[in-house]
Amino acid sequence: MSRAGQAAPPETGDAQTAIVIGAGIVGVSTALWLQRAGHQVTLVDREGPAAGASYGNAGVLASGSVIPVTTPGLLGRAPKMLLDPRQPLFLRWSYLPRLLPFLRRYLAHSNIGAVDRISEGLHLLLHDAYDQHAALAKGTPAEAYLTADDYIFGYAGKAGFEADRFAWDRRRALGVPFSEIDAAALAELEPDLKGCFGYAVRCPNHGRITDPGAYVTALAGAFEAAGGHLKRAEIRDFEITGERCTGVVTDAGTLRADTYALTLGAWSGPLARRLGITVPLESERGYHIEFGNPSVHLKTTVMVASGKFVLNSMNGRLRCAGVLEFGGLDAPASRAPFRLLRRQVADLFPRLTYGRIDEWMGHRPATADSLPVIGPSPRAKNVYLGYGHHHVGLTGGPKTGRWLARIMSGHAPNDNLAAFAPDRQTWKNPGATERN
Ligand SMILES: Cc1cc2nc3c(=O)[nH]c(=O)nc-3n(C[C@H](O)[C@H](O)[C@H](O)COP(=O)(O)OP(=O)(O)OC[C@H]3O[C@@H](n4cnc5c(N)ncnc54)[C@H](O)[C@@H]3O)c2cc1C
Repeated sequence: MSRAGQAAPPETGDAQTAIVIGAGIVGVSTALWLQRAGHQVTLVDREGPAAGASYGNAGVLASGSVIPVTTPGLLGRAPKMLLDPRQPLFLRWSYLPRLLPFLRRYLAHSNIGAVDRISEGLHLLLHDAYDQHAALAKGTPAEAYLTADDYIFGYAGKAGFEADRFAWDRRRALGVPFSEIDAAALAELEPDLKGCFGYAVRCPNHGRITDPGAYVTALAGAFEAAGGHLKRAEIRDFEITGERCTGVVTDAGTLRADTYALTLGAWSGPLARRLGITVPLESERGYHIEFGNPSVHLKTTVMVASGKFVLNSMNGRLRCAGVLEFGGLDAPASRAPFRLLRRQVADLFPRLTYGRIDEWMGHRPATADSLPVIGPSPRAKNVYLGYGHHHVGLTGGPKTGRWLARIMSGHAPNDNLAAFAPDRQTWKNPGATERN
């Protein structure tokens, strides 16, 4: 094992040591692809695999989810939404002062030019998501949780679809396939949705994970079974000498390797700042409720467009996941988002029966420009960043890990990753080149 701080940057894929910090879908994918490229890898997480957002998400491989939250007009719509408890946008008001620096930059991207740029970046990351998952999971027990699938958007009526036309037009322009279907066609596809929606959009070429927590845990198990080292420790800091990282400081001592990947999801902010990233990272808190032994069974994942939440039938449970709340990483879950989800599910399925109900809140890692950060850190040349995947980290995690493993092995990543560059200028001056 070469000693940290003395090794040359990885060039040829020779056995190098690597530490991957954070064992969500992004970290586990990075660790597996690094291992397959011949690195000796340690994957570190304070709680073990899938302890963060990768546990409780909606499980959609959302290859067409290329439109950010920050669409034109958001600034006008958001205050009304925040004051209406029936809308899927929440804010813990006491958190507002801390949120403002992020919010100022985030809202600056609510224009057509920024949406076009962001959706092109997301399309590059997401368009082949199912294939990326299949390649990652191939030959491991995780394959059992992966299914190729359509993704359905359910609307109360055609007016709802028309109200979202901005997003659908942009998807079409990028080549994301979809077709509009009426209520009868939807009921034929999904008998349990009869009477729930008046209009729908069917998106082929998607996928689903039937248990995201079990899936990521199975991938981490495959990593360990192939000789990877899984370590439980809390990362506190980087040791940086000159332009290189010489170790990660943890509550269990300092760990050293040739290269490092920072994949801490919504918790990446403070460590990223140590590496020269100045733009704030926020948590977009999301919620799920899950019904055990439900009377409703869906073959496909379904986005309830009016409530911005997803229905996914997961191995004997019905998970309903979505909603967006700003409130930081530390505050406990709020009650209002759970109440909203329960009310909306009751409206959709008035006769739903179930055995038990579980609740969960998690943190989507949100960058101010809705694009993840993927690439070498500006300050320490042997640390690579992979975080900030917002609503689509499950979908884009495997490809992010594959890109990072290639770069960390000294290869070009096969794609132009400029949109995700940690030092991209659009973060600092989002409106400079864009029109409203
Ligand atoms: C309600 C909801 C629904 C969603 N639905 C979807 C969906 O359908 N499809 C989709 O693609 N995406 C979805 N997402 C988004 C997706 O879940 C996230 O983008 C993705 O899981 C982020 O993965 P990650 O690996 O970056 O971070 P995480 O999964 O959050 O992992 C971060 C890890 O870092 C660890 N950690 C944190 N701090 C430290 C520390 N100091 N030291 C050591 N370890 C630490 C944590 O324990 C955790 O395991 C959803 C999210 C939510 C909340």
